[in-house]
Amino acid sequence: MAENKNPFQNFNDNNNKPKKKIGFYWVYIILIAFFLGSIVFSGTSNSTKTTNMADLTKMLRDGDVEKIELVNGKTAEIYLNEQGIRKYFPNEKPQVFGKTPNYVLNVSEDRLYTKVDEAQQGLSNPIEVIPVERHNWVGEIVSWIVPLLLLVGFWILIMRRMNGGSGMGGGQIFSIGKSKAQLYDQEKDTKTTFKDVAGLEEAKEEVMEIVDFLKNPNRYTRLGGKIPKGVLLVGPPGTGKTLLAKSVAGEANVPFFSISGSDFVEMFVGVGASRVRDLFSQAKAKSPCIIFIDEIDAIGRARGKNIVSGGNDERESTLNQLLTEMDGFGTNSGVIVLAATNRADILDKALMRAGRFDRQIYVELPDLNGRREIFEVHMRGLKLGKDVDKEFLAKQTPGFSGADIANVCNEAALIAARRNKESIEKQDFLDAIDRIVGGLEKKNSVITPSEKKVIAFHEAGHATTSWMLEHAHPLVKVTIVPRGKALGAAWYLPDERQITTKEQMYHEMIATLGGRAAEQIIFGKISTGALNDLEKVSKQAHAMVMYYGLDEKIGNVSYYDSTGQQDYAFTKPFSEKTAEKIDEEVSKLIEGAYQEALRILNEHKEGLTKLAEKLIDKEVIFTDDLVTIFGERPWKREERNFKRRNEEKPEENNEQTFNPENTSIA
Ligand code: ADP
Ligand code: ZN
Repeated sequence: MAENKNPFQNFNDNNNKPKKKIGFYWVYIILIAFFLGSIVFSGTSNSTKTTNMADLTKMLRDGDVEKIELVNGKTAEIYLNEQGIRKYFPNEKPQVFGKTPNYVLNVSEDRLYTKVDEAQQGLSNPIEVIPVERHNWVGEIVSWIVPLLLLVGFWILIMRRMNGGSGMGGGQIFSIGKSKAQLYDQEKDTKTTFKDVAGLEEAKEEVMEIVDFLKNPNRYTRLGGKIPKGVLLVGPPGTGKTLLAKSVAGEANVPFFSISGSDFVEMFVGVGASRVRDLFSQAKAKSPCIIFIDEIDAIGRARGKNIVSGGNDERESTLNQLLTEMDGFGTNSGVIVLAATNRADILDKALMRAGRFDRQIYVELPDLNGRREIFEVHMRGLKLGKDVDKEFLAKQTPGFSGADIANVCNEAALIAARRNKESIEKQDFLDAIDRIVGGLEKKNSVITPSEKKVIAFHEAGHATTSWMLEHAHPLVKVTIVPRGKALGAAWYLPDERQITTKEQMYHEMIATLGGRAAEQIIFGKISTGALNDLEKVSKQAHAMVMYYGLDEKIGNVSYYDSTGQQDYAFTKPFSEKTAEKIDEEVSKLIEGAYQEALRILNEHKEGLTKLAEKLIDKEVIFTDDLVTIFGERPWKREERNFKRRNEEKPEENNEQTFNPENTSIA
């Protein structure tokens, strides 16, 4: 590639060097200079006075006037002769005479002529009014330039605001319609390959095909096949969508344009569309290449759905332009558009049509194996201690995304460095995980001893009930060290199950209510500390009855709407009678679970107390402590080895109602 002629050189430069900023003061300096200049040059001399018609008539009669000039048809400038100067300006030096007007008079043309004629009637040599056209150039220029300068200055100001200090100098005003895409050239930048992407096996497999398209397009077009133009990566944030797209470019060894959907949207109408055009023309020039549009939902949201704000024409025209561009370029042009979103359901259907983003690849949160591999990838550059066990760390981080794990590794390295260690040890990783899960430890938060006791019993209640229930998640660690908002926390080791039985859900509810039940048994009163637990239990109970069809009375119906189209906030899909029944069943379920929790805790009151005391003493307890108090759990976990894709999975969007992978806090 010819480096010097490379049109993309510019933006690489933009990113690297901070541009020298053009100061604003030059505008002010010019303004001030003009004002001063206009005052100095256009002013008449100090000795000039204004006069009136009566005085002028008198002067003319007396023959004191040398000449009268009518400037621009509206100002009369009166020059006196020597006699007049001696009379009216006795102190003035006679040299002044004739150079500057002695008097000025604002008067209309007609009036001046008649009056002058009248006044000099009968005089032997009357003077004439001399009309003069005079331009005050400076003044006129200033009156043009100043508003213009102000306008330009204002404009520049707005442009700078809009560019939001994104490294663009004031000179970039004219590039507003240019796409802001970032280019990663495989020859210059460090290459991302599949090696850097852990897990995501299925996604990689699908993307592999694209790599092949880019490398040997002929193999596919030879038989008349069409190479896909667009691929949509769908998945929650931080799961590696950008990384995957980059690695495709890296594997195929082609340039990679990266832009976020929101970069297209600007205050000005038409900018989005022109940026899309620009992006595609840049890409075509670099073909074969990959365009990656992150957060495509910013522009790709279904059109005409936004009734409240009257729709967004700018966004629509941007989307239209994108569709046009995608339809426009030939299938063999070698440009493939990858787009990422975490909400494929809200995208405009037109985007998904054949010939556009007709392929979708799901990028999910990593499972246990995936997390271990991500740990491996991010531990490559770290100095690890001997006790670091990736398998264990992966187990400790359910629900973490790839980005979270990358964060854990970095945080662990920082913690170890702060402790002046030679290598990063297990404890550093655990502390990093704790920090990311629960926010920073509140070392100085004040908790009274009696509060501490309540919290200890509450957490011990969770621990005891979950230990005693076959299907509840076994406990890993309980602490009463406050973190973030939570006063105490219990960590469980959820198994990675794909379907959940009614029993499992019920047991989890009991364990969640165990905290409050313990407070009730030990102190005879309950506190507000269980808000989180109650919210969780209520949602779970509702989900069981209304979504999963797990209640006998309500039966096998689900009022869950996976399409998100129905607005159940206003119209319920069931009758009042059913609503009552649902309420009844939900409270029966929760009450039953609470009674069960009370029963278990009453039965193991002694163990509960021991556990709570240990907690108050040590602030943190682990599985071992539970084993010493209660003995081994009689149930062994069943091994689960089947492949994920063959399993029925609970619906994605349910995580707010129920997420089997959630770490439980409080
Ligand atoms: P997304 O685009 O899905 O929001 P990114 O691709 O930007 O997520 O991921 C952010 C970071 O998280 C990556 O730079 C990488 O360090 C880390 N990461 C995410 N997923 C993975 C993965 N599967 N393997 C390795 N690292 C990952
Ligand atoms: Zn609790």
